[in-house]
Amino acid sequence: MLEEILAGGANALGICLPEEAPERYRAYYDALSKANRQFNLTAIEGEEQTARLHFLDSLAVLKYAALSGKRVVDVGTGGGLPGLALKLAEPGLDLTLLDATEKKVAFLAELTERLGLPCVCLCGRAEELGRAPEYRERFDVAVSRAVARLNSLAELCMPFVKVGGHFLAMKAADSDSEIAEAETALVKLGGRLADIREYTIPGTDIRRRVVIVEKTAPTPAAYPRRWAAIQKRAL
Ligand code: SAH
Repeated sequence: MLEEILAGGANALGICLPEEAPERYRAYYDALSKANRQFNLTAIEGEEQTARLHFLDSLAVLKYAALSGKRVVDVGTGGGLPGLALKLAEPGLDLTLLDATEKKVAFLAELTERLGLPCVCLCGRAEELGRAPEYRERFDVAVSRAVARLNSLAELCMPFVKVGGHFLAMKAADSDSEIAEAETALVKLGGRLADIREYTIPGTDIRRRVVIVEKTAPTPAAYPRRWAAIQKRAL
């Protein structure tokens, strides 16, 4: 079932999955379900929901961004979404999965090793790691889903991106006001709103968006601020 939904959905999105993908998504699904019984990893459960709302939603990013061989960081990855779902489709991705919760990062480290898909699994707060020289402006792409409003999220993600790279925010289709509210923040952080691409998750009537921000200038040293400041005075 999971396998059929993914195959059909990937086809509808125009994405070609590698030969090993079905069994890897199955193993990923099994690991997510098992971990979910031990701690709260995701509210989405069951094969169909997971295949559509997690895996196919993540895969839609590949329609709009060629990620093969790119250095990508998934900020606030949780159970590995969208990052690990993308890596199963594009095993050549140089992927860093970042989250503040130790249990989630430990889950991802164990799983990616077992799948034979090496990723950097990084535990820490994005606003702190984004100041560290080894991570600042070192990624071609920062991607993120369901972490924060776009103005705050941009402050967490943009510092990781190299000039010339991209920040991809996965958002609901009704995000016009959120995007408008973030426009000054994007500019202050060295970005330019490049595109907004809308899609339907295959097999559902759920409309979603990838907000594509190009990094055109270095992020000023003042950013990212501490989380309390980001929330109190959004850019
Ligand atoms: N991206 C996943 C998880 C969303 S839940 C998905 O779409 O399913 C939000 C996740 O972001 C949580 O796992 C939380 O630990 C993490 N998070 C929130 N703020 C963070 C921060 N400042 N730095 C790092 N991780 C953060």
